Amino acid sequence: MALFGSSGIRGKLEEVTTELMMKIGRAVGQRYGRVVIGHDTRTSSQMLTFAFASGLLSAGSEATSVGLVSTPTLAYAARRFECGAMITASHNPPEYNGIKLWNPDGLAFQSDQRDEFEQLIQSENLKRAKWRELSTLLYQENAIREHIESILSKVGKSRLKVIVDCGNGATSSITPMVLEKMGCKVVGLNCNPDGYFTARGSEPTQNSLSLLRSAVRTLRANLGIAHDGDGDRMVAVDEKGNYVGGDRLLPLFATREVKNSLVVPVNASMVLDDILEGRKIWRSRVGDVYVGEDVKKREADFGGEPSGTWIFPRNGLFPDGVYAAARLVEIVSQKPLSLLLETIPSYPIFRGSLPIKGERGAVLEALRERIFELERVEVNTTDGWRLDFGDGWALIRASGTEPKLRITAEARKVSRAKEIYQSMNSIARKVIE
Ligand code: MG
Repeated sequence: MALFGSSGIRGKLEEVTTELMMKIGRAVGQRYGRVVIGHDTRTSSQMLTFAFASGLLSAGSEATSVGLVSTPTLAYAARRFECGAMITASHNPPEYNGIKLWNPDGLAFQSDQRDEFEQLIQSENLKRAKWRELSTLLYQENAIREHIESILSKVGKSRLKVIVDCGNGATSSITPMVLEKMGCKVVGLNCNPDGYFTARGSEPTQNSLSLLRSAVRTLRANLGIAHDGDGDRMVAVDEKGNYVGGDRLLPLFATREVKNSLVVPVNASMVLDDILEGRKIWRSRVGDVYVGEDVKKREADFGGEPSGTWIFPRNGLFPDGVYAAARLVEIVSQKPLSLLLETIPSYPIFRGSLPIKGERGAVLEALRERIFELERVEVNTTDGWRLDFGDGWALIRASGTEPKLRITAEARKVSRAKEIYQSMNSIARKVIE
């Protein structure tokens, strides 16, 4: 497998083995002397943590475990170390696991760092420390408390009744506590850490949150909050029990956070262009790593993805679902979520994919030629091709994990969105066949 994706190394346990994790530990230990490690609730997470720590120690590095924590908690803890390592497969099914590496400034490992480690891991010459140079595995218990205190210092009080669905994940030990300390009446749902993700799928989608939606209605709560397995994502349910996904929360947060500029990936809605007139919108590659990198580079006020990852620079350059939950509670304390969303337009969006049958490089080159022949369209090549037609746009991207072309189209009117989608689809189809 290609080892490092933009979200680190991730795969089923047959691929992400203890042997591989120990090698990664040795490679990280080759570069960094003080490393902090956290892990999520998966059944394999503790085993892989020890394998990784073992590799680190064998290189003569200091390894500190903060135990079971959310990914943002680990990313925040990394500020006191040379490197942070989170053993997690984010929202993937329970049989998966992986590792994501963090810099002390809160940014996940960038592409040049990932390339360097990809090579180091294959290397046969990793150092082995002598017996006199070895450290012990240290344990630190204050990572969650420090993360909570940092969040509480940045948000106000609230008296909302909130139902928090942690999906058996790593946020179980933090988000309910943060909201309670803000003054909320909190009801926890699926807040028992469980590596089988028994309660629901680890990805917080409209379907996987049916219990949360009905609980908000039945218990007459003001808001529902849901995380993915490791807590870098947050989505919501309004007081009526409606699912409010990342594509709806993104413009809501943007109107509150953005004074000068915003970073979103190329697949984010054009609603943002319409409601943030006069403010700069930077479009990055798809993936929270790229959004974070651009937030830093552009000194943007905020970065977010329709998938539900939120980067508030005043809190850190890492996506933090826990802070996002606290900030949303603060916003909803002024006005019910359904009313806040009434003022934000929602445009029709069509998504689909086509299988790539021929040789990938040749197909993409033919497609590129065809796209640049089109008239009266602005093409952004940050990630795939984003075609701007003025009254709508389309994105054609090759999937990073499957032999597929993904097509997205959005416009202010349904008929126009459909028309754009169909024309992109037929262009792509001709090239593929
Ligand atoms: Mg995640």
